[in-house]
Amino acid sequence: MSASAESVDTDSGGGEVTRELTDGFHLVIDALKLNGIETIYGVPGIPITDLGRLAQAEGMRVISFRHEQNAGNAAAIAGYLTQKPGICLTVSAPGFLNGLTALANATTNCFPMILISGSSEREIVDLQQGDYEEMDQLAIAKPLCKAAYRVLHANDIGIGVARAIRAACSGRPGGVYLDLPAQLLAQTLDAEAGWMSLVEVVDPAPRQIPAPDAIARAVEVLSSSERPLIILGKGAAYAQADEDIRMLVERSGFPYLPMSMAKGLLPDTHAQSAGPARSLVLRDSDTVLMIGARLNWLLSHGKGRGWGDAPKRFVQIDIEPREMDSNVEIAAPIVGDIGSCVSMLYDAMGDGWSGPSREWIDAVNARKLANLARMAPRLQNNNVPMDFHGALGALRTVVREHPDAILVNEGANTLDFARSIIDMYQPRKRLDVGTWGVMGIGMGFAVAAAIETGKPVLAVEGDSAFGFSGMEIETICRYDLPVCVVVFNNNGIYRGTDVNPTGGPDAATTVFVKDSRYDRMMEAFGGVGVYATTPDELSRATKAAMDSGRPTLINAVIDEKAGTESGRIGNLNPQSVVSRP
Ligand code: ADP
Ligand code: MG
Repeated sequence: MSASAESVDTDSGGGEVTRELTDGFHLVIDALKLNGIETIYGVPGIPITDLGRLAQAEGMRVISFRHEQNAGNAAAIAGYLTQKPGICLTVSAPGFLNGLTALANATTNCFPMILISGSSEREIVDLQQGDYEEMDQLAIAKPLCKAAYRVLHANDIGIGVARAIRAACSGRPGGVYLDLPAQLLAQTLDAEAGWMSLVEVVDPAPRQIPAPDAIARAVEVLSSSERPLIILGKGAAYAQADEDIRMLVERSGFPYLPMSMAKGLLPDTHAQSAGPARSLVLRDSDTVLMIGARLNWLLSHGKGRGWGDAPKRFVQIDIEPREMDSNVEIAAPIVGDIGSCVSMLYDAMGDGWSGPSREWIDAVNARKLANLARMAPRLQNNNVPMDFHGALGALRTVVREHPDAILVNEGANTLDFARSIIDMYQPRKRLDVGTWGVMGIGMGFAVAAAIETGKPVLAVEGDSAFGFSGMEIETICRYDLPVCVVVFNNNGIYRGTDVNPTGGPDAATTVFVKDSRYDRMMEAFGGVGVYATTPDELSRATKAAMDSGRPTLINAVIDEKAGTESGRIGNLNPQSVVSRP
């Protein structure tokens, strides 16, 4: 417990007694620490500057960023990695709004996170009298997150923090907003009473045991399938039920497809991995077991492009009942936490489980081997300037040699190619653009991954994607984090070859300054900058960075003609067919 001040009272006998006082600042810090939260990601300023200072003084790790969105992304991914809500701390109005994108993104991705923002006084905000950075932040946050709370009295801070933690972690995890008006932080309270008002959250994410009849129904559906498939999503990775999931997959004998952030939950080299036969298993499977994955746009809603014409039956494991039937009929819904659901399903399948037919396994394996063989020579090409395959072939080997490193990945082509080319070997090692396919997560994720895990981080970034959070390389240098950023520099968005159709002096809308030297940005802050033009140079520089742990930025020169429009989701980018004279 931290007491901030002392006050002098007069006791009933007329003598003086000294009472210890605490205040809103210290109660917020004590409440977080009492619940095992040791790190805050944020940007200092009015009215929370002292909150950050005092938190650091009380032994918390306080990581200051250059922009709130990056601090918010860091908090979100810290939540994903640890199952404890990541904390993002911002100033009022503009800082709060900057953090809000990350909060909404966390909610969309089911990451537990709490955005704590200072705010102006209610009396002035509610009468709209024009306070410094006046904004009704609670009302604005509410539709964009899972829950939003405001605390007005210091003796409610304990309850406010407890509610925020429970809302973020329980059921389907998500983002929570906690509004702390400036005057609350300065309110004082008797230290003993303040301490007593704090709440230690017991079992913030209670297990949710599925109904036995739901398990029996699922076993019936699965046992009657001929061409079964498992799809593992990032909910399965989040659940930290790695061993239970491996046992279920191996007992079932089903081929499985990992969604992007579920790669490595089982190693991508696992015999049952159907990653390299993705289009075949989606099209030809007759029964699909979804584990912590949603049938959203990333899976063509379970019925669109790529799913084939024959009807399929779905079994779905999810903690959120309303996820069922969201896009297609779910023949056997299993509602509960993944650890419980998966281990009960494993038991119900029993020792004598016979697995899928030989023909199905052979068909999947044949396609897998053919695709891998077709890809192998492309990954070893030494073209200069590099293409995506040559450069990613080099990084693929580095990741194989450092399986505990964390891969952060964003971009368009840089994302799509890296996702399929770079194999992952351990759970929760691949962090990327997630459900929204959002750009800008890169440096925030990289910082938090390094802070939370202590492992080396490799951030593979398109040059455009990097620009959204690039200033945070100063943060990486300031905290001396083991982060190696590789910028795939192809001079622009998708490609670097567009020209202004009018022939006028303005650059085309999708291109950047040609041959930019992103490596020199890193040098400006004392990190290591490398300019790499060949797969060999890229490989050597990346290995050196992973071994040294020094902040490094490698500018990888990629052929500006190499990319495709919107990477693999060009179909989502409407194109005009109208030609004007
Ligand atoms: P992906 O993009 O990899 O398919 P999604 O984020 O779309 O993954 O889906 C994750 C799903 O996992 C969500 O529907 C979420 O409700 C669910 N989920 C998250 N954590 C758990 C858990 N511990 N137990 C069960 N389901 C979970
Ligand atoms: Mg680019």
